[in-house]
Amino acid sequence: MNNLLLEQLSEGDLKLLEPHLKPTHFKQHHVLFEPDEQIRTVYFPTGAVVSLVVTLSTGEMVEAAMVGRDGVLGGLAALDGKMTLSRGVVQLAGEAVVCDPQVLRSVALKSPQLLSLLIRHEQTVYAQAQQSAACFATHHVQARLCRWLLRARDLSGSDTLSFTQEYLAEMLGVRRTSVTVVAHTLQSAGFIKYARGKIQVLNEEGLQEGACECYETVKRQYRQLIGRETNF
Ligand SMILES: [Zn+2]
Repeated sequence: MNNLLLEQLSEGDLKLLEPHLKPTHFKQHHVLFEPDEQIRTVYFPTGAVVSLVVTLSTGEMVEAAMVGRDGVLGGLAALDGKMTLSRGVVQLAGEAVVCDPQVLRSVALKSPQLLSLLIRHEQTVYAQAQQSAACFATHHVQARLCRWLLRARDLSGSDTLSFTQEYLAEMLGVRRTSVTVVAHTLQSAGFIKYARGKIQVLNEEGLQEGACECYETVKRQYRQLIGRETNF
């Protein structure tokens, strides 16, 4: 099971959960849920990468967190049938396994280990969201794009990322022209190759040097809370 949380489950918990896990595939830009909805499905990405985005009444949206093989969507909300707080949109197409919130709830209420894992994972998402707020307010768009590409690369496990510049601008909450300028700079430096809506990461170390501290902070917090690395 190519999901870091499912891999951490005890044999007993996995045995209870496994018969209810259904494999599925998500296309890019598919919306899994909108804010203020009741959680109907719990998603464990095994290849897909999902963005949790804040939507505004003007139609603008900004990403607060990114979840892939390192996590779960709707995991904690499933425990008491409460609602979603953001939009969940598939950022990179790929596989996931889904389960009924009721099933996860019944297993978690019998397993302190699973309950603890779900709470700790929720903390990692909170950590990302608060880091994103600080990042948006203080860090330069170039450093933020480096951070963002590294994170997407870690979660997808691929050096080739299908993103249009419009999409990157939307996720980072900046103008498209800013993304164009920065992508050009990173390409000239030999860090990435950009063509026809695809970004190829050529120099990971270069991107790491160019990224703001938020990339490492989020990774460290995940490691402290979950005990695993987010890159594979
Ligand atoms: Zn930052």
